[in-house]
Amino acid sequence: MLFAVKELCELFPEHKGVAMDSIPLRQVMTDSRKEMKQSVFVPIVGENFDAHEFLKQAIENGAVAALWQKDREVPRFVPTDFPLFFVNDTTEAMQKMAGFYLDKVSPQVIGITGSNGKTTTKDLTAAVLSTKFRTHKTDGNFNNHIGLPLTIFAMPEDTEVAVLEMGMSQAGEIEVLSRLARPDYALITNIGESHIEYLGSREGIAKAKLEIKAGLKGDGALIFDGDEPLLAEELKNPNHWGCGMNDHNRTQIKGLELKDLQSSFVIDGVHYELPLAGKHNVKNASYVITLARLMGLSSELIQQGLGQIQVTGMRFERLAGKGGSLIINDAYNASPTSMKAVIEVIKGMKEKKNKILVLGDVYELGSHAKAMHRSVAEVIDEDIAAVYTFGEDAVEISKAVAEKKLNIKSEHFTDKTSLQQVVEKDLDKDTVVLVKASRGVKLETIIDPLVEK
Ligand code: ATP
Ligand code: MG
Repeated sequence: MLFAVKELCELFPEHKGVAMDSIPLRQVMTDSRKEMKQSVFVPIVGENFDAHEFLKQAIENGAVAALWQKDREVPRFVPTDFPLFFVNDTTEAMQKMAGFYLDKVSPQVIGITGSNGKTTTKDLTAAVLSTKFRTHKTDGNFNNHIGLPLTIFAMPEDTEVAVLEMGMSQAGEIEVLSRLARPDYALITNIGESHIEYLGSREGIAKAKLEIKAGLKGDGALIFDGDEPLLAEELKNPNHWGCGMNDHNRTQIKGLELKDLQSSFVIDGVHYELPLAGKHNVKNASYVITLARLMGLSSELIQQGLGQIQVTGMRFERLAGKGGSLIINDAYNASPTSMKAVIEVIKGMKEKKNKILVLGDVYELGSHAKAMHRSVAEVIDEDIAAVYTFGEDAVEISKAVAEKKLNIKSEHFTDKTSLQQVVEKDLDKDTVVLVKASRGVKLETIIDPLVEK
């Protein structure tokens, strides 16, 4: 059971229609279209809609109580015995409820933020920690001020460890999430350029990620990218763990070997195999290994967990393409940093000689958009056979590549069909195609016709 009615009455003293013997409240839900049996409906006020309008639907679908913003009029159809809890702000009230439930279950909490690699690191953390603890993790990408509370409500009562992804687009947001979740351990995967439009600079981004310390429990450890100069200050804290390639890190990655689809490396004399490609994923794994050691897991269990990773979709998803080619769908999201990181992985692929990059726009870069797109060309060299771009800003990548006067094909497209046809002509067993852009570009739509049916 999630809440006793009595507990809700204590949390929200202003209410009506509450009978103390009413049914237990098993779920907290924001989507009135879903089955709501034994649920509390929380009507969120969004930019484009106000879910207070959907109370009728929520009741029809079985909701047994609801939060209600005081400044909204209660509609006449609401039965007098239907419990309503009055609050100033339903979103904040939902966060308060989530904090309360978290306290009740009181698992160890791992908070994960960073510009790139949060979901991957969250999935890796859960894979490793579930070898020892009953572990609950953020489902998909439910990582914001609404997603995080919903993740907490979905947590079974016997959970021992909660692995929570914390996302943001503006300053102040991670602080709210961290104070709500009060992590025992906090992870910062990297500092990139995502949301620079709102945060002004990479320094601004670093500061926003460091807000995760705000809710960190007293002796809780921060585990972070120790190779990132903007986080250098944290290296001085004896309770914090910098991880990475540099010698000054407490967790140092040695003996790195990157293969097409997996990696191996050594940390503290222990050899690990990771079924993910790319140096960036080895770094993600180094945070998880550091965390797992602090939580008392043996290296055998850690290795077993790393082998069981199930990555959430469209992150370096490998698909069998036509003609024996390999298509890599990394179209879930993008930032210039992550785009460069995966291009490095593609460059390192020895088995595929014909390497094609299909790159689309990276959103939310504001006035930095042009320069940031141009910067992607820095990692493109003659290991790559062709670069095809799509979108208003991605054209800058093509232009910058052309200026390098390399012996590679580079072309910009304004429609997806021609782009897809050009790529399709080139597919054979020597070919690998990387498809990457921000989510909103929907670049994955070109993939279906390229994939072997
Ligand atoms: P979102 O903001 O959408 O929640 P996220 O932070 O959860 O993103 P993931 O979905 O795990 O990130 O990964 C997105 C992409 O970022 C990966 O496909 C990869 O290209 C890149 N990436 C992952 N880890 C790192 C890292 N440590 N440093 C740089 N790039 C990374
Ligand atoms: Mg994510």
